[in-house]
Amino acid sequence: MDLISLSINNIIPFLLIIVYFVVPLIISWFDSRHKRINYFSALLINYLFTPLIGHFIIQNRPSRYVLGCKHCGNIYNETEICGLCGGENKNTQVHNIKGIL
Ligand SMILES: [Zn+2]
Repeated sequence: MDLISLSINNIIPFLLIIVYFVVPLIISWFDSRHKRINYFSALLINYLFTPLIGHFIIQNRPSRYVLGCKHCGNIYNETEICGLCGGENKNTQVHNIKGIL
């Protein structure tokens, strides 16, 4: 008789399981591709805090793709104008630094 409303009520726990266990897997994968953080460290942060807060924590990590500086050798420089020496780095190749945390 009340079959449809019963099944909707039974779906809610499964939706919560998906939100708390599957969404952190996806968010960590997307975030750790662009930020300098290991996938499993990102996963730990997303499980400790929720994926919503963990996403903003990981977005504050430095970028994985850096320009570097050909003037002073600063390998972590992310912009065209180096933050340490002020030298311009136009037409420089983007390097990929692997996550270390
Ligand atoms: Zn520099």
